[in-house]
Amino acid sequence: MILVTNKKSKTIKFEKNREKMNSLMATLTFKCPSCREGSLYENPGLYTFEKMSVNKKTCSHCGADLQPEPGFYFGAAYVSWALTVATWVSVLVALKCFNAWGLMEFGFLTHPGTFLMSGIGTSLVLFPYMFRLSRSIWAHMFIPFNGDK
Ligand SMILES: [Zn+2]
Repeated sequence: MILVTNKKSKTIKFEKNREKMNSLMATLTFKCPSCREGSLYENPGLYTFEKMSVNKKTCSHCGADLQPEPGFYFGAAYVSWALTVATWVSVLVALKCFNAWGLMEFGFLTHPGTFLMSGIGTSLVLFPYMFRLSRSIWAHMFIPFNGDK
């Protein structure tokens, strides 16, 4: 809620807060980089595999061009690679912490299968989110925010 004061009539009104969501939340929730309200994807469901990789050509809310050039989202592979490396490093750190806390026995050289299975399992579970997140990060890097217009 925003408190609005009118100086002439001294009336106070409450209006619904219509502030734009910040860039990080818009990226994490796959919103249009231009207005941060429309969806980037045809099918907004996260674990529904139908049309999972289909980006909208234009935003349904503001009409922004979401595919500025052919093959625009090929560059998202670089972002996806970085997210995958971060996932595997996180799995390794988690396993090391579990070992340090005495919750499980893990050594990188003595139990490589534990690391591989944990990393592959985590990557498979997170794949739909990471796939869409990498495209969303790429779009937010190159499509400017025009929400104030
Ligand atoms: Zn938009």
